[in-house]
Amino acid sequence: MTISFRHLCSNQIFRILQGAILLFLVVALCLLPAKTLSAQEESVPQPAEDAVQELPKENLVIVLDPGHGGMADDGRPEGGVYDGFMEKEMNLILAEAMKEELEKYEGVTVYLTRTGDQRLSLEERVNFAKSVDADFLFCLHFNLSKDHNTLFGAECWVSAFDRYYSEGYAFADIEMEALEKLGLYSRGIKTRLNDEGVDYYGIIRHSVEQNIPCVLIEHCHMDHENDRPFCEGRAQWEAFGRLDAASVAKYFHLKSDVLGVDYSDYPTLDVPVPTGVVRPDTTEPDVCMIEVTRQEMETGEITVALSATDYDSGMLYYDYSYDGGETFVPRLAWGDKTQDTITFTIQVPPHIIPQIVARAYNGYDLFTESNLVPLPSMDYKTEEEIAAELAEKEAAEAAAKAAEEAEAAELERKREAAKGDTIEVRRTPEPEEPKNDPSVKYFLTVCLVCALSVVGMALAMALIIKSRKRRRRRRRRRRKR
Ligand SMILES: [Zn+2]
Repeated sequence: MTISFRHLCSNQIFRILQGAILLFLVVALCLLPAKTLSAQEESVPQPAEDAVQELPKENLVIVLDPGHGGMADDGRPEGGVYDGFMEKEMNLILAEAMKEELEKYEGVTVYLTRTGDQRLSLEERVNFAKSVDADFLFCLHFNLSKDHNTLFGAECWVSAFDRYYSEGYAFADIEMEALEKLGLYSRGIKTRLNDEGVDYYGIIRHSVEQNIPCVLIEHCHMDHENDRPFCEGRAQWEAFGRLDAASVAKYFHLKSDVLGVDYSDYPTLDVPVPTGVVRPDTTEPDVCMIEVTRQEMETGEITVALSATDYDSGMLYYDYSYDGGETFVPRLAWGDKTQDTITFTIQVPPHIIPQIVARAYNGYDLFTESNLVPLPSMDYKTEEEIAAELAEKEAAEAAAKAAEEAEAAELERKREAAKGDTIEVRRTPEPEEPKNDPSVKYFLTVCLVCALSVVGMALAMALIIKSRKRRRRRRRRRRKR
């Protein structure tokens, strides 16, 4: 094209055009490598995305199942309800917080089986997990005991079979450690079978049927005073969710730049795949006996050594009675589960014959009752009795003092009243007063005596004068004769 143009144009036009073409070529050559480079940059993420899609196993799929939801057939809410708290709501808030936290880790996709208050069957939950190709299903719950305020602590339920047991147990080991560190009592990692010899909990049973490992986490007992401080509000349920997310991250060796944590080398328990069924413990503790090591007659304190063993599931709780087994104190934590013997002190009330008996509970809440130890009665005064006596004495003293004060006040009142009367007499003398004056009586008496004397004297004079007149008459008669 450039050659034919040279033939057609004059020399000057040809030179100008030649220069322009040369300039165009130089600019084009300079721009070409830059354009090619940007095209290469843009294409970089595309093959990477394709690689992720081609390798789905690289991306972990976790399904969280907030237990319960909706209303039961009897019209009551599904799941536990206690003291204004609804388990299904607590489970959902926990699950949402767990999802949010877990999504901060790399290479993980999280789903919830329910995001609202809908009722779902256990099959539906597991089918959903299967539909998203879940690698693990975590079923999230809070617990309640039948009689309330009886059982306390956290526990994990795992499948009794194959790799579902091993994988479930290895995760639960991390989870229970975290819950214990939080301050909750561990009720252990357990399996449970139904009458047909398969996993008792439907969510675990159906998951195993669909080849999905599953762990059921009972975070704590919402109806026990020991556990209540751990689950009293939204902030605590969300904290449980973050704790669970960290356990999942540790188990799957995840890392998070957002959180600044890397669990790539986190040591997980190597649980061999069981050859048979991992059966739950169905028998009571093998040994349970007590010995009274101290009795304080003056204070009523009795120290007891309790020895118990369970070769299958270990010891979990104990309780005791001092009335021969009529009544027992609420269950207490065994404490150090590596110890077969524990010591505890009882405060026994006075004036009764103590009959000490204890019960030891294994990991499956089955108990064995100990021997009974009768002890002599203790006639000490209880702190209440001493306090009552003191109060009685103080009340009597106070009453006496009050009576004394009342008497003094009455006397004072009378004295004041007397003073008031005197002042009144001076102010208004009564008109009858002269009558009552003894001097007037005396004057009248004297007057009466004087009057009587005058009358007497007058009578005497009259008689004397009369007798004189008679004598004179007699003399005159004698003279006349
Ligand atoms: Zn529940």
